[in-house]
Amino acid sequence: MVMVCNRFGECSSRPDPTVKNTQLVTLTGSVGRNGRNLRDDVSQIQDALNRVGPSNGGPVIKLVVDGFVGPKTVRAIEDFQRTQFPGKFPDGRVDPGQRTVGRLNELLVAPPTFNDEMVPAFGGVPSFNNQIVPAFGNGFAPQGGQHGFVQASFVPPPVTTDAQMTLAERHAQDAEKRLTAAIKRMNQAVTAMGKKVRTAKEQELVREINWHFKANADPNPTQHMTKVSTVLATMLAAIKEHNLGTRTILRKGAPPPADPNAIAWAYLGGWTSNKMEEKFITITPMFMTQLSLVIVHELAHFCGGNKSSGKDIVHRASPDPFPTGTKREDGSTNYRDMPPFHARTNVYSYTVYCYPERPEFKVPSTV
Ligand SMILES: [Zn+2]
Repeated sequence: MVMVCNRFGECSSRPDPTVKNTQLVTLTGSVGRNGRNLRDDVSQIQDALNRVGPSNGGPVIKLVVDGFVGPKTVRAIEDFQRTQFPGKFPDGRVDPGQRTVGRLNELLVAPPTFNDEMVPAFGGVPSFNNQIVPAFGNGFAPQGGQHGFVQASFVPPPVTTDAQMTLAERHAQDAEKRLTAAIKRMNQAVTAMGKKVRTAKEQELVREINWHFKANADPNPTQHMTKVSTVLATMLAAIKEHNLGTRTILRKGAPPPADPNAIAWAYLGGWTSNKMEEKFITITPMFMTQLSLVIVHELAHFCGGNKSSGKDIVHRASPDPFPTGTKREDGSTNYRDMPPFHARTNVYSYTVYCYPERPEFKVPSTV
Protein backbone atom coordinates (compact mmCIF):
# COMPACT_ATOMS: atom_id res chain seq x y z
CA MET A 1 0.00 0.00 0.00
CA VAL A 2 1.03 3.56 -0.55
CA MET A 3 -0.37 6.74 0.90
CA VAL A 4 -1.36 9.32 -1.65
CA CYS A 5 -2.11 12.85 -0.50
CA ASN A 6 -3.74 15.47 -2.64
CA ARG A 7 -3.15 19.21 -2.64
CA PHE A 8 -5.84 19.67 0.00
CA GLY A 9 -3.85 17.62 2.43
CA GLU A 10 -6.34 14.77 2.24
CA CYS A 11 -4.81 11.37 2.06
CA SER A 12 -5.92 7.93 1.05
CA SER A 13 -4.17 4.63 0.76
CA ARG A 14 -3.92 2.86 -2.55
CA PRO A 15 -2.31 -0.30 -3.81
CA ASP A 16 1.39 0.02 -4.37
CA PRO A 17 1.78 0.18 -8.17
CA THR A 18 4.93 -1.92 -7.89
CA VAL A 19 3.07 -4.77 -6.23
CA LYS A 20 2.15 -7.41 -8.76
CA ASN A 21 -0.97 -9.28 -7.89
CA THR A 22 -2.75 -11.14 -10.63
CA GLN A 23 -5.78 -11.63 -8.39
CA LEU A 24 -6.81 -7.99 -8.35
CA VAL A 25 -10.30 -7.16 -9.58
CA THR A 26 -10.54 -5.68 -13.06
CA LEU A 27 -14.14 -5.01 -13.99
CA THR A 28 -15.63 -4.62 -17.43
CA GLY A 29 -19.03 -3.53 -16.13
CA SER A 30 -20.85 -2.89 -12.86
CA VAL A 31 -21.75 -5.69 -10.45
CA GLY A 32 -24.64 -5.90 -8.00
CA ARG A 33 -27.99 -4.16 -7.76
CA ASN A 34 -29.04 -2.90 -11.23
CA GLY A 35 -25.56 -3.70 -12.50
CA ARG A 36 -24.51 -5.08 -15.87
CA ASN A 37 -23.50 -8.25 -14.03
CA LEU A 38 -21.31 -9.87 -16.62
CA ARG A 39 -20.51 -13.35 -15.40
CA ASP A 40 -16.75 -12.92 -15.16
CA ASP A 41 -17.13 -9.61 -13.31
CA VAL A 42 -19.56 -11.14 -10.82
CA SER A 43 -17.20 -14.06 -10.17
CA GLN A 44 -14.33 -11.68 -9.51
CA ILE A 45 -16.36 -9.70 -6.97
CA GLN A 46 -17.67 -12.81 -5.22
CA ASP A 47 -14.14 -14.17 -4.96
CA ALA A 48 -12.71 -10.82 -3.81
CA LEU A 49 -15.36 -10.38 -1.09
CA ASN A 50 -14.61 -13.89 0.17
CA ARG A 51 -10.90 -13.09 0.30
CA VAL A 52 -11.06 -9.80 2.22
CA GLY A 53 -12.56 -11.57 5.24
CA PRO A 54 -15.29 -10.64 7.74
CA SER A 55 -13.06 -8.20 9.70
CA ASN A 56 -12.96 -6.00 6.60
CA GLY A 57 -16.66 -6.38 5.82
CA GLY A 58 -16.42 -9.58 3.75
CA PRO A 59 -19.14 -12.26 4.14
CA VAL A 60 -19.03 -14.46 7.26
CA ILE A 61 -20.42 -17.32 5.22
CA LYS A 62 -18.47 -17.36 2.02
CA LEU A 63 -20.31 -16.67 -1.22
CA VAL A 64 -20.56 -19.32 -3.89
CA VAL A 65 -18.39 -18.07 -6.76
CA ASP A 66 -20.79 -18.85 -9.60
CA GLY A 67 -20.90 -15.58 -11.54
CA PHE A 68 -24.59 -15.02 -10.82
CA VAL A 69 -25.94 -12.16 -8.74
CA GLY A 70 -28.56 -13.00 -6.14
CA PRO A 71 -29.65 -11.45 -2.84
CA LYS A 72 -26.64 -12.92 -1.01
CA THR A 73 -24.15 -11.26 -3.33
CA VAL A 74 -25.96 -7.93 -3.20
CA ARG A 75 -26.13 -8.11 0.60
CA ALA A 76 -22.43 -8.97 0.77
CA ILE A 77 -21.61 -5.89 -1.34
CA GLU A 78 -23.75 -3.73 0.94
CA ASP A 79 -22.14 -5.17 4.08
CA PHE A 80 -18.70 -4.47 2.64
CA GLN A 81 -19.65 -0.89 1.74
CA ARG A 82 -21.18 -0.32 5.18
CA THR A 83 -18.00 -1.48 6.90
CA GLN A 84 -15.59 0.35 4.62
CA PHE A 85 -17.51 3.60 4.15
CA PRO A 86 -19.34 4.30 7.39
CA GLY A 87 -21.98 6.98 7.12
CA LYS A 88 -22.34 6.52 3.36
CA PHE A 89 -25.41 4.93 1.81
CA PRO A 90 -24.52 1.42 0.57
CA ASP A 91 -25.92 1.06 -2.94
CA GLY A 92 -25.12 -2.63 -3.28
CA ARG A 93 -23.26 -2.13 -6.52
CA VAL A 94 -19.60 -2.16 -7.54
CA ASP A 95 -18.82 0.14 -10.45
CA PRO A 96 -15.59 0.04 -12.47
CA GLY A 97 -13.13 2.70 -11.34
CA GLN A 98 -15.15 3.69 -8.27
CA ARG A 99 -14.32 3.51 -4.59
CA THR A 100 -15.79 0.11 -3.75
CA VAL A 101 -13.63 -1.73 -6.24
CA GLY A 102 -10.71 0.54 -5.27
CA ARG A 103 -11.03 -0.44 -1.63
CA LEU A 104 -11.41 -4.13 -2.50
CA ASN A 105 -8.16 -4.01 -4.42
CA GLU A 106 -6.41 -2.14 -1.62
CA LEU A 107 -7.35 -4.88 0.77
CA LEU A 108 -6.37 -7.61 -1.66
CA VAL A 109 -2.79 -6.38 -2.02
CA ALA A 110 -2.35 -5.91 1.73
CA PRO A 111 -0.57 -8.48 3.87
CA PRO A 112 -3.16 -10.88 5.27
CA THR A 113 -2.32 -10.69 8.98
CA PHE A 114 -1.21 -8.20 11.55
CA ASN A 115 2.32 -8.99 12.61
CA ASP A 116 3.70 -8.14 16.01
CA GLU A 117 7.05 -7.37 14.45
CA MET A 118 5.52 -4.40 12.68
CA VAL A 119 6.17 -2.17 15.62
CA PRO A 120 5.03 1.40 15.08
CA ALA A 121 8.12 3.52 14.73
CA PHE A 122 7.98 6.87 13.12
CA GLY A 123 10.56 6.78 10.38
CA GLY A 124 10.59 10.29 9.02
CA VAL A 125 8.40 12.87 7.41
CA PRO A 126 7.22 11.80 3.98
CA SER A 127 6.74 14.41 1.32
CA PHE A 128 3.26 15.42 0.26
CA ASN A 129 1.69 17.30 -2.66
CA ASN A 130 0.62 14.37 -4.78
CA GLN A 131 3.78 12.46 -4.12
CA ILE A 132 3.49 8.85 -3.24
CA VAL A 133 4.84 7.93 0.15
CA PRO A 134 4.93 4.61 1.95
CA ALA A 135 1.85 3.56 3.87
CA PHE A 136 1.23 4.20 7.50
CA GLY A 137 -2.24 2.74 7.17
CA ASN A 138 -3.98 1.81 10.36
CA GLY A 139 -0.89 1.95 12.52
CA PHE A 140 -2.67 4.03 15.14
CA ALA A 141 -5.78 1.89 15.05
CA PRO A 142 -4.73 -1.75 14.73
CA GLN A 143 -8.23 -2.87 15.73
CA GLY A 144 -9.48 -1.36 12.48
CA GLY A 145 -7.90 -4.02 10.33
CA GLN A 146 -4.64 -5.23 8.97
CA HIS A 147 -4.16 -3.35 5.75
CA GLY A 148 -1.49 -0.79 5.35
CA PHE A 149 1.39 -2.55 7.05
CA VAL A 150 3.97 -2.67 4.34
CA GLN A 151 6.87 -0.74 5.77
CA ALA A 152 6.79 -0.78 9.54
CA SER A 153 9.40 1.95 9.75
CA PHE A 154 6.89 4.45 8.37
CA VAL A 155 4.09 3.71 10.79
CA PRO A 156 3.66 6.80 12.96
CA PRO A 157 3.13 6.62 16.70
CA PRO A 158 -0.49 6.56 17.82
CA VAL A 159 -0.32 10.07 19.26
CA THR A 160 0.26 13.45 17.70
CA THR A 161 3.88 14.39 18.23
CA ASP A 162 5.16 17.68 19.59
CA ALA A 163 6.83 18.28 16.22
CA GLN A 164 3.46 17.97 14.50
CA MET A 165 1.92 20.42 16.96
CA THR A 166 4.77 22.88 16.39
CA LEU A 167 4.15 22.63 12.67
CA ALA A 168 0.43 23.17 13.19
CA GLU A 169 1.12 26.26 15.31
CA ARG A 170 3.28 27.68 12.51
CA HIS A 171 0.49 27.02 10.06
CA ALA A 172 -1.94 28.80 12.39
CA GLN A 173 0.23 31.92 12.08
CA ASP A 174 0.23 31.61 8.32
CA ALA A 175 -3.52 30.95 8.25
CA GLU A 176 -4.08 34.28 9.99
CA LYS A 177 -2.09 36.09 7.27
CA ARG A 178 -3.94 34.19 4.56
CA LEU A 179 -7.34 35.07 5.95
CA THR A 180 -6.45 38.70 6.46
CA ALA A 181 -5.35 38.94 2.83
CA ALA A 182 -8.40 37.04 1.58
CA ILE A 183 -10.83 39.33 3.40
CA LYS A 184 -9.10 42.39 1.96
CA ARG A 185 -9.25 40.94 -1.54
CA MET A 186 -12.90 40.02 -1.12
CA ASN A 187 -13.82 43.54 0.02
CA GLN A 188 -12.15 44.91 -3.09
CA ALA A 189 -14.00 42.39 -5.23
CA VAL A 190 -17.39 43.27 -3.75
CA THR A 191 -16.72 46.98 -4.34
CA ALA A 192 -15.66 46.22 -7.91
CA MET A 193 -18.78 44.11 -8.39
CA GLY A 194 -20.90 47.27 -7.98
CA LYS A 195 -19.01 49.23 -10.63
CA LYS A 196 -20.19 49.52 -14.21
CA VAL A 197 -16.70 50.08 -15.53
CA ARG A 198 -13.89 48.04 -14.07
CA THR A 199 -10.14 48.01 -14.45
CA ALA A 200 -8.54 44.77 -15.62
CA LYS A 201 -7.48 44.05 -12.04
CA GLU A 202 -10.99 44.66 -10.70
CA GLN A 203 -12.44 42.45 -13.40
CA GLU A 204 -10.11 39.67 -12.29
CA LEU A 205 -11.21 40.06 -8.65
CA VAL A 206 -14.86 39.77 -9.68
CA ARG A 207 -14.16 36.78 -11.89
CA GLU A 208 -12.57 35.14 -8.88
CA ILE A 209 -15.60 35.48 -6.55
CA ASN A 210 -17.89 34.47 -9.38
CA TRP A 211 -15.87 31.30 -9.85
CA HIS A 212 -15.25 30.25 -6.25
CA PHE A 213 -18.47 31.54 -4.64
CA LYS A 214 -20.82 31.85 -7.65
CA ALA A 215 -21.62 35.45 -6.67
CA ASN A 216 -23.14 36.37 -10.03
CA ALA A 217 -25.41 33.30 -10.01
CA ASP A 218 -27.15 34.46 -6.82
CA PRO A 219 -30.20 36.75 -7.14
CA ASN A 220 -28.64 39.05 -4.56
CA PRO A 221 -24.86 38.94 -5.11
CA THR A 222 -24.04 41.55 -2.45
CA GLN A 223 -26.01 39.78 0.28
CA HIS A 224 -24.54 36.46 -0.83
CA MET A 225 -20.99 37.80 -0.56
CA THR A 226 -21.73 39.36 2.84
CA LYS A 227 -22.52 35.87 4.13
CA VAL A 228 -19.27 34.57 2.64
CA SER A 229 -17.29 37.44 4.18
CA THR A 230 -18.85 36.73 7.57
CA VAL A 231 -17.52 33.18 7.46
CA LEU A 232 -14.02 34.40 6.55
CA ALA A 233 -14.16 37.00 9.34
CA THR A 234 -15.22 34.33 11.84
CA MET A 235 -12.35 32.11 10.70
CA LEU A 236 -9.94 34.98 11.17
CA ALA A 237 -11.27 35.83 14.63
CA ALA A 238 -10.94 32.21 15.71
CA ILE A 239 -7.34 31.77 14.58
CA LYS A 240 -6.36 35.24 15.79
CA GLU A 241 -7.54 34.47 19.31
CA HIS A 242 -5.63 31.23 19.12
CA ASN A 243 -2.43 32.93 18.02
CA LEU A 244 -2.85 35.51 20.77
CA GLY A 245 -3.17 32.69 23.28
CA THR A 246 -6.63 33.72 24.44
CA ARG A 247 -8.30 30.63 22.97
CA THR A 248 -6.92 27.16 22.36
CA ILE A 249 -8.17 25.66 19.13
CA LEU A 250 -5.52 23.20 18.04
CA ARG A 251 -5.09 20.10 20.10
CA LYS A 252 -3.58 16.65 19.83
CA GLY A 253 -5.76 13.69 19.08
CA ALA A 254 -6.66 10.66 17.06
CA PRO A 255 -8.47 10.75 13.73
CA PRO A 256 -12.20 10.06 13.73
CA PRO A 257 -13.08 6.40 13.14
CA ALA A 258 -14.82 7.04 9.85
CA ASP A 259 -11.70 8.59 8.35
CA PRO A 260 -8.58 7.00 9.79
CA ASN A 261 -6.43 8.91 7.30
CA ALA A 262 -7.50 12.39 8.40
CA ILE A 263 -4.62 14.83 8.88
CA ALA A 264 -6.72 17.12 11.04
CA TRP A 265 -10.42 17.41 11.70
CA ALA A 266 -12.98 19.72 13.21
CA TYR A 267 -16.61 19.49 14.20
CA LEU A 268 -19.01 21.36 11.98
CA GLY A 269 -19.89 24.53 13.79
CA GLY A 270 -17.37 23.91 16.54
CA TRP A 271 -17.14 27.66 16.96
CA THR A 272 -20.83 27.96 17.77
CA SER A 273 -21.14 24.73 19.74
CA ASN A 274 -21.74 24.69 23.48
CA LYS A 275 -20.07 21.34 23.88
CA MET A 276 -16.56 21.57 25.22
CA GLU A 277 -15.36 18.60 23.18
CA GLU A 278 -16.33 20.39 19.97
CA LYS A 279 -14.26 23.48 20.64
CA PHE A 280 -11.17 22.13 18.93
CA ILE A 281 -9.50 21.44 15.66
CA THR A 282 -7.83 18.13 16.25
CA ILE A 283 -4.33 17.59 14.89
CA THR A 284 -3.95 13.88 14.25
CA PRO A 285 -0.82 11.75 14.05
CA MET A 286 -1.06 12.12 10.26
CA PHE A 287 -0.31 15.83 10.38
CA MET A 288 2.88 16.17 8.34
CA THR A 289 1.93 18.59 5.67
CA GLN A 290 3.97 21.65 4.87
CA LEU A 291 0.85 23.68 4.17
CA SER A 292 -1.30 25.94 6.32
CA LEU A 293 -4.06 24.98 3.90
CA VAL A 294 -5.09 22.13 6.18
CA ILE A 295 -5.67 24.57 9.05
CA VAL A 296 -7.65 26.94 6.83
CA HIS A 297 -9.74 24.02 5.58
CA GLU A 298 -10.58 22.84 9.11
CA LEU A 299 -11.25 26.41 10.23
CA ALA A 300 -13.95 26.68 7.57
CA HIS A 301 -15.68 23.55 8.94
CA PHE A 302 -15.23 24.93 12.47
CA CYS A 303 -16.70 28.36 11.75
CA GLY A 304 -19.87 27.47 9.84
CA GLY A 305 -22.85 26.11 11.72
CA ASN A 306 -23.90 22.77 13.10
CA LYS A 307 -25.05 20.10 10.69
CA SER A 308 -28.39 21.06 9.08
CA SER A 309 -28.13 24.65 10.28
CA GLY A 310 -27.95 25.81 6.67
CA LYS A 311 -24.64 27.39 7.57
CA ASP A 312 -22.64 24.20 7.90
CA ILE A 313 -19.56 24.24 5.74
CA VAL A 314 -19.16 20.82 4.21
CA HIS A 315 -17.63 19.01 1.24
CA ARG A 316 -19.73 20.09 -1.74
CA ALA A 317 -17.32 19.95 -4.67
CA SER A 318 -13.58 20.07 -5.04
CA PRO A 319 -11.98 22.15 -7.83
CA ASP A 320 -9.71 19.20 -8.45
CA PRO A 321 -9.24 18.12 -11.17
CA PHE A 322 -9.00 21.47 -12.84
CA PRO A 323 -11.03 23.16 -14.23
CA THR A 324 -14.45 21.55 -13.57
CA GLY A 325 -13.62 19.68 -10.39
CA THR A 326 -15.48 16.83 -8.74
CA LYS A 327 -18.73 16.54 -6.82
CA ARG A 328 -18.07 15.55 -3.20
CA GLU A 329 -20.22 13.74 -0.64
CA ASP A 330 -22.47 16.67 0.33
CA GLY A 331 -22.72 18.22 -3.12
CA SER A 332 -25.10 17.93 -6.03
CA THR A 333 -22.70 18.83 -8.82
CA ASN A 334 -19.10 19.59 -9.71
CA TYR A 335 -17.12 22.69 -8.78
CA ARG A 336 -17.86 24.66 -11.92
CA ASP A 337 -21.62 24.10 -11.80
CA MET A 338 -22.22 24.46 -8.04
CA PRO A 339 -25.32 26.52 -7.20
CA PRO A 340 -24.57 29.65 -5.08
CA PHE A 341 -25.81 28.09 -1.83
CA HIS A 342 -23.47 25.16 -2.26
CA ALA A 343 -20.59 27.47 -3.21
CA ARG A 344 -20.89 29.47 -0.02
CA THR A 345 -21.17 26.34 2.12
CA ASN A 346 -18.37 24.51 0.32
CA VAL A 347 -15.25 24.05 2.40
CA TYR A 348 -13.05 24.03 -0.72
CA SER A 349 -14.31 27.42 -1.89
CA TYR A 350 -12.93 28.99 1.28
CA THR A 351 -9.77 26.95 1.24
CA VAL A 352 -8.72 27.70 -2.30
CA TYR A 353 -9.68 31.39 -2.13
CA CYS A 354 -6.95 31.81 0.48
CA TYR A 355 -4.27 30.44 -1.89
CA PRO A 356 -4.67 32.52 -5.06
CA GLU A 357 -1.05 32.07 -6.09
CA ARG A 358 -1.42 28.36 -6.58
CA PRO A 359 -1.81 27.68 -10.31
CA GLU A 360 -4.29 24.83 -9.79
CA PHE A 361 -6.76 27.17 -8.03
CA LYS A 362 -6.74 29.91 -10.65
CA VAL A 363 -9.94 30.87 -12.41
CA PRO A 364 -9.95 29.27 -15.86
CA SER A 365 -9.53 31.84 -18.63
CA THR A 366 -12.61 30.43 -20.39
CA VAL A 367 -14.95 31.46 -17.56
ZN1 LIG B 1 -12.88 18.62 5.30
